[in-house]
Amino acid sequence: MNKGKINVQVENIFPLIKKFLYSDHEIFLRELISNATDATLKLKHLCQIGQAQVEYGAPMIEIKINKDQKTLHIIDQGLGMTQEEVEKYINQVAFSGAGEFLEKYKDSAKDSGIIGHFGLGFYSAFMVAHKVEIISKSYTDAPAAHWTCDGSPEFTLDAHTKMERGTEIILHIAEDSETFLEEHKIKELLNKYNKFMPIPIKFGSKKETLPLAEDAPKDAKPEEIEVDNIINITQPAWTKKPNELKDEDYKEFYRQLYPMQWEEPLFHIHLNVDFPFNLTGILYFPKLSPNLQIQKDRIQLFQNQVYVTDNVEGIVPEFLTMLRGVIDSPDIPLNVSRSYLQADGNVKKISEYITKKVAEKLQSLIKDHREDFEKKWNDIKIVIEYGMLSEAKFYEKAVDFALYPDTDGKYHLLKEVIEQIKPNQTDKNNKTIVLYTSDLSAQHSYIASARERGYLVLHLDSPIVAHLIQKLESENENIQFARVDADTLDQLIQKDENQISKLSDKEKETLKGLFEEVVPKENFSVQLQPMASDAQPIWITQPEFMRRMKDMQATGGGGFMAMGGFPEMYNLVVNENHPLATKIMESKDKELIKHAFDLARLSQNLLKGEALTQFIQNSYNKL
Ligand code: ADP
Ligand code: MG
Repeated sequence: MNKGKINVQVENIFPLIKKFLYSDHEIFLRELISNATDATLKLKHLCQIGQAQVEYGAPMIEIKINKDQKTLHIIDQGLGMTQEEVEKYINQVAFSGAGEFLEKYKDSAKDSGIIGHFGLGFYSAFMVAHKVEIISKSYTDAPAAHWTCDGSPEFTLDAHTKMERGTEIILHIAEDSETFLEEHKIKELLNKYNKFMPIPIKFGSKKETLPLAEDAPKDAKPEEIEVDNIINITQPAWTKKPNELKDEDYKEFYRQLYPMQWEEPLFHIHLNVDFPFNLTGILYFPKLSPNLQIQKDRIQLFQNQVYVTDNVEGIVPEFLTMLRGVIDSPDIPLNVSRSYLQADGNVKKISEYITKKVAEKLQSLIKDHREDFEKKWNDIKIVIEYGMLSEAKFYEKAVDFALYPDTDGKYHLLKEVIEQIKPNQTDKNNKTIVLYTSDLSAQHSYIASARERGYLVLHLDSPIVAHLIQKLESENENIQFARVDADTLDQLIQKDENQISKLSDKEKETLKGLFEEVVPKENFSVQLQPMASDAQPIWITQPEFMRRMKDMQATGGGGFMAMGGFPEMYNLVVNENHPLATKIMESKDKELIKHAFDLARLSQNLLKGEALTQFIQNSYNKL
């Protein structure tokens, strides 16, 4: 027997490992299965280059629980280790590496900025085990080795009788980690970390029913057999080339990735690049609800088919974190803080590459399948609009595919919108006015007024639309957006129709005065306008700028001035040419004014509380 002391700076590595990696105990299994996978792939390589004269066969990795012994076993059929190799790879290199890490981060490790997922490799086993054994038989002629260690720097290294090639790691599970002896817990971990690893992983067995032979007698019972329960998919779609995959394969992979998702993705984007960094992956556009609920199914980050995290912040541009799918890249440094990650050159390039690929996909979709793209617009617009606001490069490309639906359900690019607007639909600065509504039902009367007169009204209802419009205006100097109920449509109509007032100046003054007596002036400023006699008699409008600022503030517009303290100010626009105006002026009936004012407020959803109750009461009384 060979006894020795492992060369480490720290006296007892076991409590330190536990302490520093407390949050992530479960990664031990991922680390050990990664080692088993590496050992198998190394053997495969040696066989391929003729360095190992053994039958590679169809190796698998087996995970076993022994509840009586309180042990967990990870068994591989890889290249194995001789006693000398255990001495070298386990005792010297790895232990000292772990010791060095712990020494280095003894003081700072609590600053959780460092590492969410630092794999300590083999030694992470001591996070859950009070004793670890390695029994390994090298693919060479050398006898098997048996190493044991109880977490102190003392180890034993011995010969063993194991004859089959490969390594068995035996974890004697510590009392406080006995959850890792539960089958459902191990299943959960395998499913989370190892579901797409390249070497088959067996965990237990399952029953399978053999199909009956065609000539089997009628009363024959189908035979049931026990088969290995393989928990992983060794060649997930993202490891294949796009031209090897059909649409159905992408959908199938989506189901493998999110088995609880019953809804199909709208479309996918296959990422595949090997220079200047290595990255593969598939992203999916899911149907998103407009209120951006916290998403459970997120993009998953892998390294060489090993799951790392579903927190891709800093790697994927923020607006694309609403997508689903996988990214696999060995070039993303993981054992660093997030802020370091964002400064990393490779990571920046990766983020740009992903943005570019997504934009290109959208460009090609609208070019080749515009009708289909329009159908999907409502489900994807939030991602695209958010991207236009947050990434300048994406905004530039989005000019080709950002759509603006109108109130008739037709979809236009911005340039197509501009082409359709009448040449004289301009404001006093000669900017083209683009009318829009954010709510078809709440702004219905205004939309109707606009549509009757042939104005195009866009239907923009995303929660971030105020920000988007602000951005579009700053990028397109000649365009001015105005909501249908802003202080614009009434003026457009007036200008367009060139209506002449039927009232004299004196009469106008009287009419205005009558209204001002009834309407609270803290909230309403009364204005008169000559409009067609069949246009609405009274309009309540709100200055576009003021309302937009408020909207932006409500959806979190950093950097905008606080508007909270401002009172709600509206314009009350009276149509001088409407018969009602004449009637009011002639009768000077305040009740009539009050009623008309209430109706105007009602149509803008501004009549509430006691005022509403009163209005209804009065109306009943008149019946
Ligand atoms: P890393 O995997 O990053 O090299 P580890 O601490 O996980 O570090 O493992 C240390 C070394 O021990 C490995 O590089 C490998 O040489 C050896 N090793 C660990 N597990 C196995 C195994 N199952 N089969 C063969 N060698 C192994
Ligand atoms: Mg390892």
